[in-house]
Amino acid sequence: MITTSPAADMFDVISPVTGRVVGTHPRGSADDIDDAVRRAHEVAGWWGALGFDARARRLDAWRGIIARRAPELAELTHIEMGKPRADAMLEIAMALEHLAWSAKNAARVLGRRAVRSSLLTANQSASVEYLPLGVVGVIGPWNYPIFTPLGSLSFALAAGNTVVYKPSEYTPGVGVWLAQRLSEVVPEHPVLQVVTGDGSTGSALCRSAVNKIGFTGSTATGKKVMTACAETLTPVLMECGGKDALIVDADGDLEAAADAAVWGGLSNAGQTCLGVERVYVHEEVFDAFVDRVVTRARTIRAGSGGNAQIGPITMPTQIDVIRRHIDDAIGKGGRAVLGGLDAIEGNLVQPTILVDVPEDSVAVTEETFGPTLTVTRVRDMDDAVERANASRYGLGLSVFSRRRGDEIATRIRTGAVSVNSYVMYAAVPSLPLGGVGDSGFGRVHGADGLREFTFPRAMTRQRFPSILPLTTFRRTPRIDALVRVLVRLLHGRH
Ligand code: NDP
Repeated sequence: MITTSPAADMFDVISPVTGRVVGTHPRGSADDIDDAVRRAHEVAGWWGALGFDARARRLDAWRGIIARRAPELAELTHIEMGKPRADAMLEIAMALEHLAWSAKNAARVLGRRAVRSSLLTANQSASVEYLPLGVVGVIGPWNYPIFTPLGSLSFALAAGNTVVYKPSEYTPGVGVWLAQRLSEVVPEHPVLQVVTGDGSTGSALCRSAVNKIGFTGSTATGKKVMTACAETLTPVLMECGGKDALIVDADGDLEAAADAAVWGGLSNAGQTCLGVERVYVHEEVFDAFVDRVVTRARTIRAGSGGNAQIGPITMPTQIDVIRRHIDDAIGKGGRAVLGGLDAIEGNLVQPTILVDVPEDSVAVTEETFGPTLTVTRVRDMDDAVERANASRYGLGLSVFSRRRGDEIATRIRTGAVSVNSYVMYAAVPSLPLGGVGDSGFGRVHGADGLREFTFPRAMTRQRFPSILPLTTFRRTPRIDALVRVLVRLLHGRH
């Protein structure tokens, strides 16, 4: 179900691959948003009352259609935002794993379950269940236009909410496509509505009568979303930017680490929230590691053709950010051992590997979102951990070490860490995904991702009258004396 007003203001989507207009969509107004949210409230009761099993069947059917028509979705993603079709297919594969998990596990995670009472409340049976919030507003980015929004959409829907989704203005077609496929298996009511538009449409969604906003995007926009939501005390999930590091210990597998750094830093043209942007390498293996990274990265070409391993930069404005970061790194004493300012060719950026970049350069402190890596020599792993943790972001991190991987990982302050691989925590369906610091808060995926779109309802049922009636004005001095004794007995020893 797609919402449009009759005389809607329209906007074009220009493909970074072809430079041509590949779609024209309505710019949703505040009225369009309010209408969609009103309809979503009207049907929230129906969707919630279907129950976990019936919802799971619908979500599984949605998954089946997406899987069968995946090449079409991959093509649309490629043409709208520029990533290679094979990478889009990989994105679909990962997104469907999480969709399957959310449908299968919602009843177990959210359904009513008994919890233990205590000595003072031994006459009560206690239980908790997680109820849908009602209507969830989802605001998504363009860089992973399937995987990222589905992290909120699947989990919010599986938990029993209806959703109004505002996709990025760069990838509205992907958002509309996903909602159309769901409407084929939920024809009765619009449980997922898409309102296309730009930042003003997203802003209207934040000010509407939604019960929660699931936001994925930059930290700067996230702050605006929070400000708007504060007016109505609307809770928010913040999946924001990152500046992820990869650490290589002296005993790390250099081949595997170089492969991970090159894929983590360059794939999707570096436009990945969990992309590797900083690499810290033990001084004993620094030169050997840099050699391996450069050898691999040299074979990767950005292009718009079918064979390109990385596509163009999606947002034209990002080119200036990438240029400024490379320029600042070199200006402050860094060296480009591959690429550099010359690597920027129109909306293509060729792989750029920077070394000796000072830690106060914007190439190290700010999200670059381009196919660039800073590779920095460190004294030891204490030095690596300190530098990795110095970022204001805290999304993910990879560490390559044969003997000390787990120990290093536990000292890292990010929402996720992978030891001896890159980004695998985002592929394991039962793991939560999200950040700390400027990378945001709240979680998608896993049990935490389901609970994110619910509120817990606690319940007690009195099984028999208490021998210690406490919450009554009929309480006797004897009971008060007993309470004093109990307080000492239960807690005074500590
Ligand atoms: P933006 O912050 O520019 O936009 C995100 C979404 O917010 C878009 O739909 C955008 O609409 C919308 N928006 C813009 N202004 C407002 C506003 N005032 N109120 C409400 N919504 C608004 O991010 P990008 O789309 O450029 O995505 C890239 C960013 O997303 C990177 O920082 C990346 O790290 C982060 N990201 C984080 C992930 C995570 O899991 N933590 C995953 C993927 C990306 P429009 O596009 O139409 O302007």
